[in-house]
Amino acid sequence: MREISHKLAFAHDAAPARYGEIFDPNNGGVQARVALGDAALLDRVVEAARKAQPAWAAVNPQRRARIMFRFKELVERNMDELAHLLSSEHGKVIADAKGDIQRGLEVVEFACGIPHVLKGEFTQGAGPGIDVFSMRQPVGIGAGITPFNFPAMIPLWMSAVAIATGNAFILKPSERDPSVPVRLGELFLEAGLPEGIFQVVHGDKEMVDAILDHPGIGAVSFVGSSDIAHYVYNRGVAAGKRVQAMGGAKNHGIVMPDADLDQVVNDLTGAAFGSAGERCMALPVVVPVGEKTAVALRQKLIPAIEALRVGISTDAEAHYGPVINAQHKAKIEQWIQTGVDEGAELVVDGRGFTLQGYEEGFFVGPTLFDHVTPDMSAYKEEIFGPVLQMVRAETFEEALALPSKHQYGNGVAIFTRNGHAAREFAARVDVGMVGINVPIPVPVAYHSFGGWKRSAFGDTNQHGMEGVKFWTKVKTVTQRWPDGGGSGDSAFVIPTMG
Ligand code: NAD
Repeated sequence: MREISHKLAFAHDAAPARYGEIFDPNNGGVQARVALGDAALLDRVVEAARKAQPAWAAVNPQRRARIMFRFKELVERNMDELAHLLSSEHGKVIADAKGDIQRGLEVVEFACGIPHVLKGEFTQGAGPGIDVFSMRQPVGIGAGITPFNFPAMIPLWMSAVAIATGNAFILKPSERDPSVPVRLGELFLEAGLPEGIFQVVHGDKEMVDAILDHPGIGAVSFVGSSDIAHYVYNRGVAAGKRVQAMGGAKNHGIVMPDADLDQVVNDLTGAAFGSAGERCMALPVVVPVGEKTAVALRQKLIPAIEALRVGISTDAEAHYGPVINAQHKAKIEQWIQTGVDEGAELVVDGRGFTLQGYEEGFFVGPTLFDHVTPDMSAYKEEIFGPVLQMVRAETFEEALALPSKHQYGNGVAIFTRNGHAAREFAARVDVGMVGINVPIPVPVAYHSFGGWKRSAFGDTNQHGMEGVKFWTKVKTVTQRWPDGGGSGDSAFVIPTMG
């Protein structure tokens, strides 16, 4: 059976004590196994990073950027192979797998501009003969712990900025689809990145805990589910690290009575069911405002949902493929049952979906609920599957309150032709990323990505200037060059510039 190994800066032949299974979500079989690492291995990885990092930080930013340019070209050249590899482990369709890689590459493009971004601040004459300047220096060794649902984009959100700013970076990708991160490591080397600056270690909780406790690692970036994000945040901070930890989501789409409903239905089906709903920026809750909107929307949604094509991940005609594994499929179907038990109306039932020839695949059909209410646990919790829930609201204020009061605050969208309502909504909603007639408002790479409330712990976002802030420490220098006359008395009061 194919074995997926760590991507390390040193030879490591010891047989792993434990392995994880990698499934083929299309047919349900095990296609590979992945070596799971432990704290002893991490010690060696950190040691290799520690040896390599000072020389990397000393490479001037323009040269570091040139490696990013070369890496971008290599990923583009290998796009097809990477997309197929990604899709074969994750189950998302090929076109969507390319989108996953492309969104990561856009952060690499941002990192190509690192010389400009790293210019510090300077004040001449902050006091008599005194200048002040600040610079951003790398944290040293950073680690990224990533989820299964974007095995290219999220590792690149973190690594591109961490590496371009002069850090050594250790990636612990999801143990469910670890092959693309390893390929990215190979391509970084091919692009000219020195050994030890990007290493990949596989593992589960044991490796995550080792990372959080390791004194040699200064910064940890995490993306995954909220309970684990919270845990990672607390444990990492207690160990003296800087930590950013992004969590789960339950994004709402508010549909105002004046919205273009045909457009909304197109946007909603893509955003709710694309990638089988396994996106933290999916739109699994729709909130029509007013009875008339709800009735009209429901009428248009049902045939659109029934027309969706679920297929294997290499089916070019499929709208979405299987979910990640059997356990997750069972969990989604359990949530559908919970919705029914709690009294929501199951309008389209995706349970029991099978694909001829792929009966053991992890497929879930598209599902629609109506008359979902905020007290239901199936509304409060993240399902992370192809399930769209309709929560009806009477007024704009009622609709605005729903995402604002929800425990998650990752993304939200409003569909309307009314600029005033949209502006008011964007200003007042208690959510980190807002779309106005944009169903999946993932910010471009030079802005930054991050939710609010239980969708993110810590205070810096991913990529853009927020990412640069996270992966660097500010050093501020106050300098004076006396003329050598030796004049002036000792100062016993705090110096001021007054
Ligand atoms: P997950 O929380 O199960 O796993 C994420 C990472 O944590 C993996 O690397 C995994 O190995 C590790 N991990 C798992 N259990 C652990 C434990 N008990 N202790 C320590 N580490 C542990 O998440 P997932 O299922 O891979 O990904 C889906 C989740 O990620 C969803 O909740 C989704 O909303 C969220 N997500 C959030 C964002 C965001 O930016 N906010 C983006 C993508 C995904």
